[in-house]
Amino acid sequence: MKKISRRELIKQGGLVLSVLTLPFPLTAFLNFNEMTDNKNFDVIIIGGSYAGLSAAMTLGRALRNVLIIDSGLPCNRQTPHSHNFITQDGEKPSVIAEKAKGQVLKYDTVKFLTDLAVKGTKTDKGFEISTQSGKLFSARKLIFATGLKDIMPNIKGVSECWGITVLHCPYCHGYEVKNQKTGIFANGYGAFHLARLIRNWTKDLTIFTNGKSELTQEQTDEIKRHNISIVEREITSLKHKDGVVEEIFFSDNTTFQLKVIYSRPPFEQHCKIPELLGCELTEQGLLKVDAFQKTTVDNIFACGDSANPLRSVPYAVSTGSNTGVFLNNAMIEEDFLK
Ligand SMILES: Cc1cc2nc3c(=O)[nH]c(=O)nc-3n(C[C@H](O)[C@H](O)[C@H](O)COP(=O)(O)OP(=O)(O)OC[C@H]3O[C@@H](n4cnc5c(N)ncnc54)[C@H](O)[C@@H]3O)c2cc1C
Repeated sequence: MKKISRRELIKQGGLVLSVLTLPFPLTAFLNFNEMTDNKNFDVIIIGGSYAGLSAAMTLGRALRNVLIIDSGLPCNRQTPHSHNFITQDGEKPSVIAEKAKGQVLKYDTVKFLTDLAVKGTKTDKGFEISTQSGKLFSARKLIFATGLKDIMPNIKGVSECWGITVLHCPYCHGYEVKNQKTGIFANGYGAFHLARLIRNWTKDLTIFTNGKSELTQEQTDEIKRHNISIVEREITSLKHKDGVVEEIFFSDNTTFQLKVIYSRPPFEQHCKIPELLGCELTEQGLLKVDAFQKTTVDNIFACGDSANPLRSVPYAVSTGSNTGVFLNNAMIEEDFLK
């Protein structure tokens, strides 16, 4: 065995001590085992945000060898504060995820790789996943916790304000902007539904249909009865300061001042691998899962936003944890019958 000099020992001791006294996120980072020589796992989880980490904790604690592959682009990354998740209310989204990652990676059964999964293939024993950096891994089971990609409209300023003052969900952010002068970017039934919902948080509401209104006469009458105006002018851009919206600009050179906008932009699956492996989508474009989070392809599970219409951190965590339990049970059944 190599003899270590006293000086070397003191140096190493110093390193250990300084690691122990580092602030939490940095300590957690140093604990992360991002490098792994193992190429074969019980489960590969693609997507290492709230849903994926939650599934990994359950499976890691159930002594399953798990690899998480994550490309680091959760859908809420631009939001300054995440709300409505007890113990973490008002916390920065990345802080919640880092804390979760630190706790999950304390289990030596779980490995984490920062990379993009680019291809999935079915094999005799399960699946192979290749990554953008050229790595190849195999597993008996797959979990997709890959979330959704919101598609921003072609209106200058909307992307910059997304999650800051252009909001998708009043349960997440409505309390903080209650009673403010608020707009709704939507048309047809979507506008009617959103106006009725948001009126719970503010009565100062205007619907912007960005072109001819597609609300029915009945919906329009209901909207007007509640003193909500409908503006049909074509929107060209938002004036904002660091994501804080100030004014809407229209193609006829008029403007409208307001503080908040609600919008439900269309979305697509963040990761196309499940569809390429044959997983079916619902009409809404979500991965179709049964009550046990199983997709329509054997041995592939999905959780979080990618498979659930209720988009929230607690829901992602809950479905992730359930997926861990259901998938572990499936493996126990298979192995017990062997
Ligand atoms: C603007 C905004 C604000 C929000 N605010 C709140 C809030 O205040 N409170 C609340 O409860 N909810 C909020 N939500 C909802 C919440 O953020 C989501 O429900 C939650 O992030 C879903 O978690 P998830 O793990 O399913 O997906 P995500 O958090 O979106 O994570 C998916 C992960 O998968 C990774 N990934 C995707 N494809 C691949 C691939 N091929 N290879 C490797 N990795 C991949 C992504 O990089 C990402 O890290 C907000 C959402 C948005 C859009």
